[in-house]
Amino acid sequence: MSSQRRSDGPPARVQLSRAAGWRMPAGARKVDRTTPWGNPFDYRGPGRDRAVAICEYTAWLDGEGPDELPAGHRVFSRSWVLEHLDELAGARLACWCPLDGPCHSNVLGARVYEHTHRASETVRKAAYGAISRRTTPRDSARRPVGHGKTRRSRANAQPGPPAG
Ligand SMILES: [Zn+2]
Repeated sequence: MSSQRRSDGPPARVQLSRAAGWRMPAGARKVDRTTPWGNPFDYRGPGRDRAVAICEYTAWLDGEGPDELPAGHRVFSRSWVLEHLDELAGARLACWCPLDGPCHSNVLGARVYEHTHRASETVRKAAYGAISRRTTPRDSARRPVGHGKTRRSRANAQPGPPAG
């Protein structure tokens, strides 16, 4: 662990395992669907896969659809997730997905990193009394996950033409 260089980005994730003797590494946090951090969108089902479920999850975190989504035995809340990102700061996120494939924890981890990075930047600027009214280029940091099917219903969000 000590030889690991501190990389510029979220910490590497962890794959949960039921293998005998397997233990959660120190500093890891479980974010599967047994926790409020889970992905309410199921990857199983006809025409679905992890990439699809993660696209939906990303759009949901971005504000698409209802705040609360029931899935399995719990109700997942977007506002809860966004308000509790601090709890995952610096943690390696642990889920069942294979490490060489897509997982919602990558999206979540990126959010946590972005959030904590921005927070520390704010603190730093405040310390120097130099907070300016810059807008944060939030959308530029977004990348579509998987193949190009991600641009759903964004076109509908544009304001209509002026009446008359
Ligand atoms: Zn996962």
